[in-house]
Parts: sequence; C-alpha cells; structure tokens
Amino acid sequence: MEGLFFTGDSVVEAISIDKMAPASGEVLLQMKASGVCGSDLKNFGASKSEKPKLSELKVPGHEPVGVVVELGTNVGGLSIGDRVMMHHYTGCLKCSMCLIGYTQMCLVAHEVYGSTAHGGHQEYMCVPAYTCIPIPEGLDFVSAAACSCGTGTAFHAVKRLNPTGLDTVAIFGQGPVGLSATMFAAQLGARVIAVDISSYRLNLAKELGASEVIDSSSHNAEQVIRELTSGEGAECTLDATGIPEVRIQAVDSAKYWGKVCFVGEGNTTTFDVSAQIIHKQLTILGSWTFSQAGLSEVANFVIERRSPMDKLITHTFGLKEAQKAYDIFISGETGKVILTMD
Ligand SMILES: [Zn+2]
Ligand SMILES: [Zn+2]
Repeated sequence: MEGLFFTGDSVVEAISIDKMAPASGEVLLQMKASGVCGSDLKNFGASKSEKPKLSELKVPGHEPVGVVVELGTNVGGLSIGDRVMMHHYTGCLKCSMCLIGYTQMCLVAHEVYGSTAHGGHQEYMCVPAYTCIPIPEGLDFVSAAACSCGTGTAFHAVKRLNPTGLDTVAIFGQGPVGLSATMFAAQLGARVIAVDISSYRLNLAKELGASEVIDSSSHNAEQVIRELTSGEGAECTLDATGIPEVRIQAVDSAKYWGKVCFVGEGNTTTFDVSAQIIHKQLTILGSWTFSQAGLSEVANFVIERRSPMDKLITHTFGLKEAQKAYDIFISGETGKVILTMD
C-alpha cells in the first residue's frame, strides 16, 4: 500500500509502505478521508536538509477518518464496518488529563499520529481502539475529517468565548480554523466580523455567516471594528493567525470587559499588560484542540444545526493528487481541503 510523505522543499511523495496488522487493543482502519491542516505546512515546507532519512519520516495527516476493517485482540466496543474519526493522540489513560479525554495533554507521554507516528495520509492505518470516535449517522467522511482537528478546534474555541446573539465576535484569520469559527459563532446568533487579507477567504466568510468582513491588507482592522461597534470594540475576539501584530489587534479590538481567545499557534507576542489587558478588564483565553468527547460534540452539533460544511470544504483530492492539494492550499485560495481515498 502507499503512504504519503513530505520529503522536503514542499514535495509530497507517495511511497510504498507495509500494511500493518493490528496489535492488541488496536484496530485497522481503511482510510476514507484525511484533512489538510495549516499546522502541517511547516513540516511540508521544511527543506530536504532538515529532514531525517526516509525510514524515519512519518506519514502526515492528523485528521484521519475511516472504516474499521480488522480488530486486534482485546478490542471492545468496536465492530468491523464501524465508521470512525480518530482523536489522533495516545496517552497513559490514567493521568488527570487522559481521564478527561485530553490525551494530547497526557502528563506522562503520548504519541501524535501524523507527527510522531504515521498519520492519516495512507490507505490503511492501525490505531488504538480508544482513539476511535464513532462518526454519527448523517455526517459524511470529509466533514468528519474536518471536525477531527481544524473545525473541532474552532468549535471549542467559540464555545469557550460563549457568545450570545447580543455579542459581536471579531475573528482574525479566515483559514480553515477561522472560517469554521465564523460559521459556528454565526450559528450561535452572534454578529461576526471576519478579518483577513484574502478576498477569496473573506467572500467565503460571508457565505459562512459573517455580517461584516474587513480586508486588513487595505484597512486598519481595529479602527473598522470600532466604527462598527459604536467606538467600543467587540465583546469577543479570536485570533486564528498566530501572527504577533494580529494578536495585538485582537486584544486591542476587544471592548472593555471583553474576551479574547488565542488559537493560532507559534511566535512570541509582547503586550503592555496594564494598559492593554488589566485596565480593560479583559479575559484572555488560550484554546487548544479538544477532548475525545469534544470530538463527538462538534460532530453532533454540525449535524443537528446543519452547519454548512459543504461551503467550508472547498476542495477534495485523491491521495494521488496530494501535491496539488497542498499547492493550492498554500496559495490561500481555498477553504478546507481534504484528501479522500475512494
Ligand atoms: Zn490540525
Ligand atoms: Zn495521561
């Protein structure tokens, strides 16, 4: 069978690998879809000289969904034919974080599929049974893949901001995570102001429910947000970019007593804590992914509220077209991009 590898300098190669047999406690999944996530782009773009030798590379893809086709020994609760999403981390299953389903925060040790272990961009994948979350009826494989990282991350960040229909939520960055946040905040009844530098993505944000959009390549986002909110700023802001200047705008665009949620990763950002945070009485949140139960929760929400996933997911490609999938994703002219295996 074939698995994809990032072999350096933005090249994706399909390379023949052995099909594994499930060990005790594991199941074999026939992959059906695997999402392309912004957090993979650093690994994708790394130069050949930075890469370990081929035998040490791992298959990327941390939004894996598939069908159970083989059970290892000691597997309960799963059957052949089950459609599942993978919560793509192992954990000790005993520490306080594992016990609340946040195996990615395991206090002992954990593997990350798609990073420290082979991920979803392959035809078959062996995974621990406890990482498999049933896909609720009515959710297709590509939507389930989106929920498994980017869209799920956005859902849980918006949930923590907890906006009501009285609130304005300014969302900075309209990549797949920001677009998903726009969709969910709008579905909760909030007025969403979407900020990005891409007119393609701003148009998509409008389709997903943004009331207003701001092109921050030509406008001062903070100033426009203030104009749109009687000079006061937004009750909630969310940064999905990780860019220091944008994080500062997210904080400065929040109203007194407002809430700010940081989702975009990386970089270091400096704040004048007194003027920008303390004296504004802000609540600053960091939100990272979600628990095993949180994956079911976002999947159920998407079905029950008919979240417009067909608008969010703009491109699907077969495994053989993965290079094209990454090239177009990196161009910025996409919503969510998913690889499919049928
Ligand atoms: Zn991701
Ligand atoms: Zn643990």
